[in-house]
Amino acid sequence: MASDQQGENTRAVHLPRAPAPAQQPLGVPVYRTAAFAFSSSAEYAALLNGEAAGYSYSRIDNPTADAFAMAVAALEGQRLDGTGRDGPTAAQSFASGMSAISTVFWTFTGAGGHVVAPAAVYGGTYGFLRHVAARFGVQTDFVDVTDTEQVRAAMRPETTIVYAETVANPTTAVADLPALAEIAHARGALLVVDSTMAPPVICRPLEHGADLVLHSATKYLGGHSDTTGGVVSGAPSLISQIRAVRVDTGGALAPDEAFLLRRGLETLPLRVQRQCSTAMLFAAAVARHPAVCRVDYPGLPGHPGHKTAIRLFDAGPEGTRFGGIVTVTPHGGRQAGYELADRLRVGQVATSLGGTHTVVSHVASTTHRQFDDAALKAAGMDPGAVRFSIGLEDAEDLIADVHQALDSIGREERA
Ligand code: PLP
Repeated sequence: MASDQQGENTRAVHLPRAPAPAQQPLGVPVYRTAAFAFSSSAEYAALLNGEAAGYSYSRIDNPTADAFAMAVAALEGQRLDGTGRDGPTAAQSFASGMSAISTVFWTFTGAGGHVVAPAAVYGGTYGFLRHVAARFGVQTDFVDVTDTEQVRAAMRPETTIVYAETVANPTTAVADLPALAEIAHARGALLVVDSTMAPPVICRPLEHGADLVLHSATKYLGGHSDTTGGVVSGAPSLISQIRAVRVDTGGALAPDEAFLLRRGLETLPLRVQRQCSTAMLFAAAVARHPAVCRVDYPGLPGHPGHKTAIRLFDAGPEGTRFGGIVTVTPHGGRQAGYELADRLRVGQVATSLGGTHTVVSHVASTTHRQFDDAALKAAGMDPGAVRFSIGLEDAEDLIADVHQALDSIGREERA
């Protein structure tokens, strides 16, 4: 304790603290600290040895990061419809979606191991499996996971993970999670699902047989394109193994980021319901435009995953929530795709998705630039495809915007 006899520097460092409030704060406090102090060395040792609960160092655990993870676990909670497995849901938060993804692979596969993943998987995950995990002796077969026969055929005795995305980015293919869980579990593998594009108010994969569900929280969970983070939820026995690897590999979520992500969750249903409703109107309107050769959106009756989405996704009074991502392919290939993206006035060419702004990206040159032409073709992606992440703007403005961009492309083609 500092006293008046001590020097000014000692007194400055050891200033008195306000007492912990007796009342629970309504907002989530930001524990912006790297380190925690103990009443004794014995307490410090007990904590590090896992013999006492508490906090020691924010790479290991941080109360704000935990608050975010606990909130996601509650939203992903199993047995909401009474059909899930027994047991509570736990979660771990991460510095990014890729940190969550890589930590899951580091935890449940290793040299000599094998993974079955979608050919249309998110580019970062593809890059990790193809170029990083492969160097550590993990082999991956990339298959069309909407074709369960392909998944079954790819399984090997050493397969430890079947990986899927609830709604694939950017093809919007919908994974039949119960069928994939059956295949994985029959061979003793885990079903790990990236549900970034279908957050808990659309789908809760743990209820459909997934062992782990993960998100790039950077997207819908945070929802404002101002924070980066990731989260993995599942049974506590799996999550504790993931936590141990996270501690060793250092992908902890920072407290300020955790605060923003936790705050974003409170408006998740409001935002996502509206994004889904607008996306449905937008997809139906754009599909009728003559300059468009293809629209991928699970809400359209002709989409191959439409029926699976109705079976697995939540419905509110506004109807089934098919997500906020619409991929539009204009006639004219790569060049037409560039032009469509660049001629929008409301939609912005920007990275990421799931925020309040409508953003677009030309898929082949941006999010999936890691894919060569063969991988693009295998994943069913057209070089002209443009991914729209529908924001919170008015539907009429977004439709008018895409129409003016498509009209101008169509005119040049006819000229
Ligand atoms: N999964 C999906 C489906 C994504 O779209 C992304 C990022 O775009 C990621 C994972 C990676 O997340 P992050 O950028 O937060 O690392």
